[in-house]
Amino acid sequence: MSDIIDTANKSFEYWLNGQIQQATKQAEPNDIDACEDCGKPIGTARKCAVPSATRCINCQTKYEIRNKR
Ligand SMILES: [Zn+2]
Repeated sequence: MSDIIDTANKSFEYWLNGQIQQATKQAEPNDIDACEDCGKPIGTARKCAVPSATRCINCQTKYEIRNKR
């Protein structure tokens, strides 16, 4: 019985590690300081909070809404 739980835990751990790796990959900091959608400055505060940001908060919100569908 505990073997089944062990296996389930291991595959969950494996899946979780993959998710974390993917998230870290996307979150690589960049030097982009102008929004790639509207060309306006992304803003220092936003770049500090999200070093991987390539869009200003307005365009990022729109982008995320677009990609949810
Ligand atoms: Zn923008």
